[in-house]
Amino acid sequence: MLVQRLEHKAPGRVEKVNPAYTSQTCSACGHCAPESRESQAVFRCVACGHRAHADVNAAVNIAAGRAVRARRETPVRVSPKREPQHTTSV
Ligand SMILES: [Zn+2]
Repeated sequence: MLVQRLEHKAPGRVEKVNPAYTSQTCSACGHCAPESRESQAVFRCVACGHRAHADVNAAVNIAAGRAVRARRETPVRVSPKREPQHTTSV
C-alpha cells in the first residue's frame, strides 16, 4: 500500500544529476555557484551574467546532464546572450 502511494507521487524518474546542483549551475557556461541562484525563481550566473528562470535553467542542465560534468570542465567564457523579451524593466 505504502509503496504504491510513493510510486504514484514520484513516477519512476531516472535522475542522473543531482537536482541541487542543476539549480545552481549556469546552463550557458556551466559555472556552478549557489550565489548564481538570485532567488527562488530567478537564476543569474555570477560568472557570465546569463539570466533565466531558475526552473528553466535547471531543466536545461538536467537535459544536458551538465551538473555532472560541470566540476570537471573548465567553464568557457561566453558573452551574455541577449534575450528576445528583454523589455522587463519595471
Ligand atoms: Zn554562466
